[in-house]
Amino acid sequence: MTALTFYGGVEEIGGNKILLQTKNSKIFFDFGMSFKRAGLYFSEFLQPRKLNGIGDFLEFGLIPDLSGLYRTDYLKHMGRKEEERKYDAVFLTHAHADHISYVHHLREDIPIYSSEATEKIMQALEDTGSSGFTDFIHLKVNFKLEERKKGEGLKRMRGYKVKRDFRIIKQEIKIDDIKVTALPVDHSLPGALGYIIETPDGPIVYTGDLRFHGYQRELTERFIEKASRIKPKVLIIEGTRIGEKGALSEEKLGERVYEVVKRTKGLVVVNFPMRDLDRMKSFLKVAQRTGRRLVINTKQAYLLKLLSGVNCDCPSLEDVGIYIQRKTWGLIGRDDFPEDIIRQDYSRYPWELEFIDHSSALTYRDIRNNPEHFIFRCDFFELKELIDIRPPRQSCYVRSVTEPFDEEMEIEKKKADNWLKHFGLYPYEQIHCSGHASGEELVKIARELHPQILIPVHTEHPHLFKKFYKNTRIVKEGETVFI
Ligand SMILES: [Zn+2]
Ligand SMILES: [Zn+2]
Repeated sequence: MTALTFYGGVEEIGGNKILLQTKNSKIFFDFGMSFKRAGLYFSEFLQPRKLNGIGDFLEFGLIPDLSGLYRTDYLKHMGRKEEERKYDAVFLTHAHADHISYVHHLREDIPIYSSEATEKIMQALEDTGSSGFTDFIHLKVNFKLEERKKGEGLKRMRGYKVKRDFRIIKQEIKIDDIKVTALPVDHSLPGALGYIIETPDGPIVYTGDLRFHGYQRELTERFIEKASRIKPKVLIIEGTRIGEKGALSEEKLGERVYEVVKRTKGLVVVNFPMRDLDRMKSFLKVAQRTGRRLVINTKQAYLLKLLSGVNCDCPSLEDVGIYIQRKTWGLIGRDDFPEDIIRQDYSRYPWELEFIDHSSALTYRDIRNNPEHFIFRCDFFELKELIDIRPPRQSCYVRSVTEPFDEEMEIEKKKADNWLKHFGLYPYEQIHCSGHASGEELVKIARELHPQILIPVHTEHPHLFKKFYKNTRIVKEGETVFI
């Protein structure tokens, strides 16, 4: 008996949590957050509580209630009986939140497999994140008491961490009666994988998220070629853009950005997704062609630092400017305070401190004094930097992120527009391309792989697959498919 159960990621974009069970093994593929479901109940200032362990997440079905899967410190605190581990591994396709977020809740002794770049991105999220739910590489043990060193009694234990059993996939992995082969694919962040899974009842292919129009498109082509050779019985295929046509390639996007930057005399302000390093590369190339410097934030700089040893063709810290945001007292860039006092502004952010002295470090003063020398990346939460930078006349704004697709994003965009109008950066240029394959490309994948069962995931329109592929199986959340 081989079975697939979909605990998320069906009839919605993301939140993939796919359980594969054979006679001897139980393996999850991805363990991500469903933005749609989480957004029904929670918002920025109404968040699940850690004090309830996984309770708040179970309350709304954000994670499935399965025994032997979740971290012991949370379960114990909730008063649940001790459980034995019942899952053999979790394989991650890539480090987007809709595929990895709930790894935080998993038991520390479940092996987690990913690419090296995915592990580094998750490390960066753990070190620089502020949500409190980012125990991806190390599990910070909560709700534990210890003996006082001085005097009698107990105290709350702090800072006790356990390293997860995180494993970088280097070759095929055999887990009892299952063989998993990971192959790199092109997506909008480094380290994305697709999987070929051989089970006693036939091969399964899982695409993860992929596209054919980034700088690494040949990886996706190679994955599809190998996957078709194996003649999969089941194809689990992402369908984000099943109803949409083509897309701008990263190269063409770069050309369009170049045209805008070339005619801009003042500061170029841009917004692109934090961890989309293909996009960062596109802007970096434009900066180099126009004699400007691309300025990124310290979280991005930290990510580039961690990825510097990984073979993923990422920009180097020497090629960019690192923007040091004002914090606490806001003293950076001022010369009327001693250096050690200025550094205290960052004492709560040890990972950030090292960039203050970096040769690529820049402050608002550097940009304000020479705006024509820079392309400044500025996301929604960084708009306040414009108050310090004061873009001069003839500056411009390039928006290189997706259009809003829910209410909260609409509201955010309206606010951003107000900021841009205030600083003379409106109207702006919208130049973006997606991280996902187009409808035609998805159809082509399905026909080439020709599976007995095609299961669409990561899409709000799974029924569209039925139009061109007869053996499409549309599954509901929590449903099990026997193969
Ligand atoms: Zn996704
Ligand atoms: Zn993704």
